[in-house]
Parts: sequence; C-alpha cells; structure tokens
Amino acid sequence: MKLHEYQAKEILSTFGVPVPSGKVAKSLDEVEKLLDSLEGKAVIKAQVHAGGRGKAGGVKVVTDVESGKAFAKGLLNSTLVTVQTGPSGVPVNSLLIEEIIQIEKELYLSVTIDGGAKSIVIIASEEGGMEIEEVAEKSPEKIKQLHVNPISGYQPYLGREIAAFLNMDSKQARSLSSLLANLIRTLNDKDLSLIEINPLVITSDGQLVAADTKMDTDENADFRHPANESLRDPEQEDPLERIANEKGIQYVKLDGDVGCMVNGAGLAMATMDVIAQVGSSPANFLDVGGGGSEEQVSEAFKLIVSDPSVKKVLINVFGGILRCDVVANGVVSAYKDIDVKVPIIVRMTGTNSEEGGEILRESGIPVSVANDLSEAAQLIAN
Ligand code: GDP
Ligand code: MN
Repeated sequence: MKLHEYQAKEILSTFGVPVPSGKVAKSLDEVEKLLDSLEGKAVIKAQVHAGGRGKAGGVKVVTDVESGKAFAKGLLNSTLVTVQTGPSGVPVNSLLIEEIIQIEKELYLSVTIDGGAKSIVIIASEEGGMEIEEVAEKSPEKIKQLHVNPISGYQPYLGREIAAFLNMDSKQARSLSSLLANLIRTLNDKDLSLIEINPLVITSDGQLVAADTKMDTDENADFRHPANESLRDPEQEDPLERIANEKGIQYVKLDGDVGCMVNGAGLAMATMDVIAQVGSSPANFLDVGGGGSEEQVSEAFKLIVSDPSVKKVLINVFGGILRCDVVANGVVSAYKDIDVKVPIIVRMTGTNSEEGGEILRESGIPVSVANDLSEAAQLIAN
C-alpha cells in the first residue's frame, strides 16, 4: 500500500530521520492558517500517490500568503497528471505545507527489498532530484547499490561506503550513517517494501534533510499493523483495482485492450506473454484463484468488461480445483446480468473442460472456443 508523503514523513520523523516541519491541509481555510503561521514562506506540495509532481506543477515554493493561496486554490481538488499517473491523473485532495529549506545539493537515497538477493538493498546517487530516472537510464554508474546482510543487519561500514560514493565529508558521513540506520529500522519495524528519499537534501548549513519521501507498505504484513488501515487513501487507487481488492480478486490494471481472466498467477503471466507475442497487449492481470467460486468468476468477468478500454476478452482456464464448468457457469451468469459488447474467446482445458464447453455452447452467448492457447492467441490477434 502506498502512503502519502505527509504520512511517510510523520513516520520518518518518529524514527529520528530529519524532515522539514510541515502539516497537511485538506481545505483552503487550513492552507491559509498554515501559510499565515509560516508568514507566507512555504513549499506547497500536492499529496498524491505518484511521483513526478515537481515537473507537473504539483510543487511550488511561495514567499507570500497571497500567492500561496492562489496556487493552493488551483491545485486543491484538481486532477494532477504526472509521468507516473497515466493520462487520467490522480485527484489532489490534500496539500502538504512545509517550511522552506535552503537546498545546497539534492541526493537520492532509498532502501527497498531486493527479492532476488533476499535482502534489503540501499540505493544512492549524488544526482538526486527530478532527473533521477534519466540518470538511471543514461549514466547508471552514478547510482550505487549495497546489500544489507540480513544476519548482521545494518553496519556502519555500509554508511561510510555510501557516504564516500556521495563525496561527503566526515561530519556528513556520520549523519548519513545514522540516517541510514534509522531508515532500515523504519523499513523493518513498519514492514515496508520501500522508503525512497528524493531529494535527500544537503542544506546550506550542511544538514541532511529528507525533502521528499515515498513509502510503500508490504501488504502481506498488514495483519501485524492494523493501524495501517487508517493510512489508506482509496481515492488514490485505481477504481477497478479497489473494487477487485474488496471482492478478493487479484487484479492489476494494465495499458492494453485485451481483458484476461485466468486461474493462477503463473498461467496469468504466461497468458499475458502469449497476448504480447501476437502483437496485442493485455488490459489487466487477473487471477480468479485456484479455488474460485461461480460467483467470484462472475464478479471477475464483470470487472474486466466494465473497463472501457477492454475491446476483447480472453478467458484462459486450466481446470483443477476450480473446474471448467464452474467457470462457464460464472461467465454465463455474468453475461445475463450485464450488457457485453466485446467478443469473448475461451480456452479451457483440464477438469470438466467438456462440460464447460457444453455449458457455453448451450447458453447461446457468442463465445469463440479455442482448442489450445495458440489458437486462442490467433483469435485475439484477428
Ligand atoms: P516529486 O517531483 O513528486 O518527486 O516532488 P519533490 O517533493 O521531490 O519536489 C520536486 C522538487 O521541488 C525537488 O527536487 C526540490 O528541488 C523542490 N523542493 C521540494 N521541497 C522543497 C523545499 O522544501 N524547499 C525548496 N527550496 N525546494 C523544494
Ligand atoms: Mn521527489
């Protein structure tokens, strides 16, 4: 689950990581009070679950109350489109109003889980700020990665190595080392999958301050953190993903136009590959699960076709514990409830595949039944 910058900074601050002082505002009245308390000298930042705000007009430094109010008025309750949001953007329902910090240099620092290495990895660069994606692409040697041994945990030599890479003096190196120790403690204690600080600012008086923070929690550990639920902001989530989440369906929205309903995550990924191989592109990842019910199949199908970008649907099922006849009945029942305008291609094999095919044929709904995956792919491509 993604957290807002203001939530992430509150957490960091309780773990001893220096952040600019600031407060979140959800109305223009609150904005005005906060601007007054800072005598109009503030950084105003759109709170959305996406980066790239700076370049999209979502961050501004203001030096008087009036211009701060004017900027906030245009931003609050608007939709912000950044390189990370997709064309429909995300709603700006709150603003972070912070004190201005004097920036000498912008660094990049993050800690995240490297699944392949089964450990935490520290990522750092001297070229932080709004161009970090370009740095990663064009000059990857300017980015350093160091793994944290999970047995010994964080050790100060890691901090010294990162500090040397960032060309810090010994005083800054000590600050960085304790900052890193605190970041890793935050990551572990809060079961986060990511803390990204970009920029990590060196101020004009030589202090390190986390000027921007992205934080993701590991949802598999939600049960250990019931209080996290209050940090969720459903308005930032994709509406279809939110509905899927409520119904217990594994669903990820993608950019293409072929809706996919598959049982099993591995088969779902293989199906997406096959769709890509024939030059089409999947509109979603969807796993109805190995033990899905007819109702779940029906809900999943409705979810897929409710996405306006879906132009075709591919149902690819390997009947095991979830039998093909259950899937067929689920699709038929969904079809009766809603108005489906897109062609449906079905490939079923495994338990009760013949019964499933029979149910689909007898229902009279216009589906093309493919005998194998490559035939299904050809039907998708045509
Ligand atoms: P992002 O574009 O969504 O990552 O938003 P950031 O919070 O990183 O803000 C973008 C840029 O705004 C930063 O790289 C800074 O240059 C600038 N900025 C952010 N906070 C401050 C601040 O407190 N003071 C000043 N002077 N500039 C800031
Ligand atoms: Mn940033």
